[in-house]
Amino acid sequence: MDLGIRGKKAIVCAGSKGLGFGCAEALAEAGVDLILNARTEGPLEDAAARLRELGVSVTPVACDITTQNGQAQVLAAAGSPDILVNNAGGPPPGMWTDWDREDFIKALDANMLTPIALMKAVMPSMMERGWGRVVNITSQSVKAPIAVLGLSNSARAGLTGYVAGTSRQVAENGVTINNLQPGIHATDRAVSLDGGVAKAQGISLEEAKAQRCAMIPARRYGTPQEFGATCAFLCSQHAGFIVGQNILLDGGAVNSTM
Ligand code: NAP
Repeated sequence: MDLGIRGKKAIVCAGSKGLGFGCAEALAEAGVDLILNARTEGPLEDAAARLRELGVSVTPVACDITTQNGQAQVLAAAGSPDILVNNAGGPPPGMWTDWDREDFIKALDANMLTPIALMKAVMPSMMERGWGRVVNITSQSVKAPIAVLGLSNSARAGLTGYVAGTSRQVAENGVTINNLQPGIHATDRAVSLDGGVAKAQGISLEEAKAQRCAMIPARRYGTPQEFGATCAFLCSQHAGFIVGQNILLDGGAVNSTM
C-alpha cells in the first residue's frame, strides 16, 4: 500500500533504537525525510546512516528531548514538520512509597509535558497547511496499570487525557493526534526489564523471557518493525479519520473485550 506521504518531513524523538527507530524506519520506507533525535551521538549517527540507505534525508539532532534546550534544538532543525512522533525513555520502576514530588515532576516533564510542548510548537503550522500527523508512544500501562511503573502510569495517563481533548480541537484542520500503546516489545528496554526479573528471582534471562511470553496470548514479544508499520499507517493519507485513539499493540496481553 502506498502511504501517500513521500516527501513529507517528520520529527522522530528518541529514535536511534527500539520503538522510535522502528517508527523512523517505517516512515523512511514510505519516503519521509527525518529529523532524528536521541541523546547519544554514536548510535544516533549509525541509525541515521542506516535510514539514509532507504533514500531519504536524515538530520540527526543529539540532545535530551525532555529538556527545553533539547526541544528547541530539534524544533530549529525541523522548521515546519508534517509529522511528529513523540517518544522518550520511561521513568524508573519502584513502589508508591518511594516517590516524592520531585520524582513526579521529572516523570511528568519527560512523558507528558515534553510531548505536549512539541505538539504546541508544531501543530499551528500543520493546521495552517491543513495537514498534520502526531503519534505519541505511550504504554499498555495506560489501559492496564503496571503497579511498579506508577510514575509512568501517571504521566502517560495525563498525556492521554490531553490528547483526548486536544485531538478533537485540531481535527477540523486536517491534523490528527493518536497514541500507540506498546505492550512488551523486543528492545533494549525489554532486555533490561527481563534482567531485573532474572536477578530478583534467581533465574536466567531466557527463563525470565519465557515466563513473560507465557502471559502473552501471541506467546512472543512484539517487534519494532511491526510497531513502526502501525505508526507509519497512522501517519499516512489513509488515516485521516482516526482521531484521538489509543491503539494497543500487545499480542493480546490486556484481557478486555474492548
Ligand atoms: P529503548 O529500546 O530503550 O530505546 C530508547 C530510545 O530512546 C533510544 O534511541 C534512546 O537513545 C532514546 N532516548 C531515551 N531517552 C531519551 C531522551 N531523554 N531524549 C532523547 N532520546 C532518548 O526503549 P523502547 O523499548 O524503544 O521504548 C520506547 C518507549 O516506549 C519508552 O518510553 C518505554 O517506556 C515505552 N514502552 C516500551 C515498551 C517495550 O516493551 N519496549 C513497552 C511499553 C512502553 P539515547 O539513550 O541515546 O538517548
